[in-house]
Amino acid sequence: SVVTPKGYAPLLKSFDDFYQRRMYTRIKDCWERPICSRPAAWIDIMERVSTDFNKTFTFTKKTIHALNLGSYNYLGFALNPDHVTKEIFNSLDQYGIGTCSPAGEFGYTAVHRDLEKEVAQFVGKEDSVVFSMGYATNSTTFPCLAGKGSLIISDRLNHTSIVRGARATGAKIEVFKHNNMKHLEHVIRQAIVKGQPKTRRPWKKIIIVVEGIYSMEGEMVDLKTCVELKKKYKCYLYVDEAHSIGAIGKSGKGICEHTGVDPADVDILMGTFTKSFGSVGGYVASSKAVINHIRRTSFSPLYGSSMPVACACQALNALRVITGEDGTNIGKERLQALARNSEYFLNGLRKLGFEVIADVGSPVIVVMLYNPGKMPGFSRECLKRGVAVVVVGAPATDILEGRVRFCLSANHTIEDLELALEKLSEVGDLTNTKYMKQKMLQG
Ligand code: PMP
Repeated sequence: SVVTPKGYAPLLKSFDDFYQRRMYTRIKDCWERPICSRPAAWIDIMERVSTDFNKTFTFTKKTIHALNLGSYNYLGFALNPDHVTKEIFNSLDQYGIGTCSPAGEFGYTAVHRDLEKEVAQFVGKEDSVVFSMGYATNSTTFPCLAGKGSLIISDRLNHTSIVRGARATGAKIEVFKHNNMKHLEHVIRQAIVKGQPKTRRPWKKIIIVVEGIYSMEGEMVDLKTCVELKKKYKCYLYVDEAHSIGAIGKSGKGICEHTGVDPADVDILMGTFTKSFGSVGGYVASSKAVINHIRRTSFSPLYGSSMPVACACQALNALRVITGEDGTNIGKERLQALARNSEYFLNGLRKLGFEVIADVGSPVIVVMLYNPGKMPGFSRECLKRGVAVVVVGAPATDILEGRVRFCLSANHTIEDLELALEKLSEVGDLTNTKYMKQKMLQG
């Protein structure tokens, strides 16, 4: 017999919390959008009919054509222009679509290996290993690096894949205030003085974990100080470059290049192919010895099927465009366009009176709304005006730290961004979300 939803009630009970019942189901139209086009500067989204969000959505055939400020397509490579696709079609012919086997169990292709070698060279490390998913890159790498008796010191706003990976290690985890180097030093010193819980023995190792650009803030890490601290206290440094690789630095080499840090001073550089490379998957780059160890022990390459070859091919081609190895200037031009767009949009939002957090040059730009009640109105009013944005709240942020996140692309034109700023200004007035800090201080 068919099991009714009621029959599942005990299974689901512990997940049926206040947030799910009162908030998420009522506003999930702001997130689960039925997208029906490529993640270009403009995107097509199907119009919804059903407003009962507990039921399956139904859609009309009508689509909304909206300016896309939500995809991580920083350099526009997800759009498959000719120079990125030609080998991909060949790879589909030669290798098919799915690999249907994990690399560590059965084997992997020359395309995967080329990607690993070229990524390592690009980021300034001896070797790298690729994963089929960025999330799994973090969540299955940490258990290869730390265990009982180790200490992981993590920024409060690190991505959930880092948090989950760190928790799976069995190591002690300490969290430092977001991007606060004074607090990081304080946490390191305290931890060294106290030693391991109960035994008071010195830590087997201490790993500091940060992101190049924080995905929920758009702020860049103070990498120089992180390196100073890691050297001073003999720690290891792990940097997640999901949003910074191929997005910042003069030649797209990420946060090390942007901040003038020698990649040799960062022990592990992790990144994903889902953003600037317009593909899927992730990598970890480090010394040969560390990479061999991760390849042998990480559950994702060992037991999860490897990245589809066409996706590895897409990442490899995008990388060669960024480095200029394809013989064109396209990579350089896109990096410049992205930097120009990011700065233009950041200044525009500031001028309008929004409370913006993001560093100049970051393609991730965040406007604080604070009150989570403002999120659905802001998102829907934007979409009504043809601008698709991402609103973020709990559990990704603290409950009173609701925000809107914009992702810029080299594909946006200045006219696109002017239009967006005009519409956002209207929405800001309508939802009363400009000058939020002043309003909050006034009570
Ligand atoms: N790290 C960070 C900082 C991220 O923001 C994300 C996802 N946006 C990931 C890792 C996971 O990457 P993916 O989406 O490629 O699985």
